[in-house]
Amino acid sequence: MKTLQLIVPCFNEAEVLPLFYDETAKVLTELWQYDCGFLFVDDGSADDTLRVIKALAQRDERVKYLSFSRNFGKESAMLAGLRASTADYVAILDADLQHSPALLPQMLSALEDGYDVAAAKRVDRKGEGRLKSRLSDRFYAVANRMMTVELDAGAQDFRVMKRAVVDAVLSMTEHRRFSKGIFSFVGFKTKWFPHENRSRAAGKTKWSIKKLWRYAMDGILAFSDLPLKLPLWFGSFAFCGGLIYGLVMLILLLCGRAAGAVHTVVCVLLLCTGAVLLSVGVLGVYLARVYGEVKHRPDYIIREQKL
Ligand code: UDP
Ligand code: MG
Repeated sequence: MKTLQLIVPCFNEAEVLPLFYDETAKVLTELWQYDCGFLFVDDGSADDTLRVIKALAQRDERVKYLSFSRNFGKESAMLAGLRASTADYVAILDADLQHSPALLPQMLSALEDGYDVAAAKRVDRKGEGRLKSRLSDRFYAVANRMMTVELDAGAQDFRVMKRAVVDAVLSMTEHRRFSKGIFSFVGFKTKWFPHENRSRAAGKTKWSIKKLWRYAMDGILAFSDLPLKLPLWFGSFAFCGGLIYGLVMLILLLCGRAAGAVHTVVCVLLLCTGAVLLSVGVLGVYLARVYGEVKHRPDYIIREQKL
């Protein structure tokens, strides 16, 4: 019998957890062909989340949990869950029922059909604030221009993965994690499931604008070298501008028209700032290499082999 584990990151979700458990447990009865289990990750909740999880664990031996010493963020909670998981199939879903557990049977049948990942993709933005939607759209537009991986604006963390995919995700050993980028980096055959946005069953969102900003920055810094290389472009631009400026001044001088002091200052400024920025840019290029190396990302990920 194949095993299935549901990883559920929880931060102050005491209110919604009993609803989540009831609705999900009902769906699991349909999945009788799998040996199913829950793995709740309490991300340093300040409310009764851990108590609720413990009560569930007493009632149902399929419930396992981890509890953090403080709030480390959803990325860390997902990572801890994936590391602790042992099942053949591993699902990640939010505790607030925004990721509909009713989709699980279809997702699992996709895996049985040969897909490695079954992931949910948002088809609308119902129940989401206008500002959050706008900012999120802008982020994906900018990020996709800069990043070395392709991000799908609608892709959610809600997914079921085969063991090989979980192992590939865990082989990415970086600390500041950006799972959307990591999932895209590891690849594998993915089936996307259109998923309607549902509003939270209870409780409040844990994402503040500050947290979202940090998340967006983590994504760009983890998957793009562009910010480090920008001075190279600015420097080249300024230096070339200075050279052309100087050349024009020299031609004018040869024609007997000496340039004024202001032009000389502008020319020298362009040449000097250009040279400084260029040097910073060269450092940036090397730093980008060092940054790439210290992330210790796998050079390749094998999906299948016969040696
Ligand atoms: N979460 C977490 N740690 C955090 C923030 C959120 O484990 O620091 C969990 C949260 O309990 C929920 C999921 O991540 O299960 C998604 O969070 P939320 O619903 O607040 O985000 P939203 O759906 O509003 O983007
Ligand atoms: Mg939510």
